[in-house]
Amino acid sequence: MHFYQTNLNFQTRVNIGIAAVKDYINRFQASFDDPSTTKTTKQTTKATIKTDNDTNGRWTSPKATIYLDFQNQTLDDAMREAINAWNATGAFTFQIVNNKKAANLIATTMQNNQDQAAGLTDMSINTATGYFMDGHVYLNTAYLLNPEYGYTHERIVNTAEHELGHAIGLSHTNQISVMQPAGSNYGIQQIDITDVQRLYAKAPTTSTKQTTVNNN
Ligand SMILES: [Zn+2]
Repeated sequence: MHFYQTNLNFQTRVNIGIAAVKDYINRFQASFDDPSTTKTTKQTTKATIKTDNDTNGRWTSPKATIYLDFQNQTLDDAMREAINAWNATGAFTFQIVNNKKAANLIATTMQNNQDQAAGLTDMSINTATGYFMDGHVYLNTAYLLNPEYGYTHERIVNTAEHELGHAIGLSHTNQISVMQPAGSNYGIQQIDITDVQRLYAKAPTTSTKQTTVNNN
């Protein structure tokens, strides 16, 4: 478990992604109190941090509006497919909206070949209430659209489903799950649906001074 102090308004940003942002590893590595590993592969750099699901944020109800800001048809299609997949579970509903400013979530591209992340989710959480305030879901064109990395349509969709899972409030798991740290190997599984139902059946976790940084 790794904690850092939030700002004065008890609000902070939680960065969550398929792979770690190197900056975060560098910034927080000194204070990891669990054995952490950093693994570099062609596709992912991972720092394994044990996280407590109870520290997750969540929306006030299992639904969120999302604005899609892709200039790329492949990624736009994949994100829409991932949204439809989550909606089909009945556990959480994403509503695509046309008003960017009013959207809870913005899904867009990033182009970063430095941090080794195929996707990244950046959530703003009010830790006093435990509820998400807004968030961004990024798909990294530097990997997903680079033929060298061989991402199939299915794996791009899985990546989008994984990032949307973080935007719902899910953490990583080593079970067979869309929330495996690797991110693109599995689509939404029954265990993921159950986790969402469980998350939204309980009161949000609040904290007056701490939040969990979950990066991977
Ligand atoms: Zn992740």
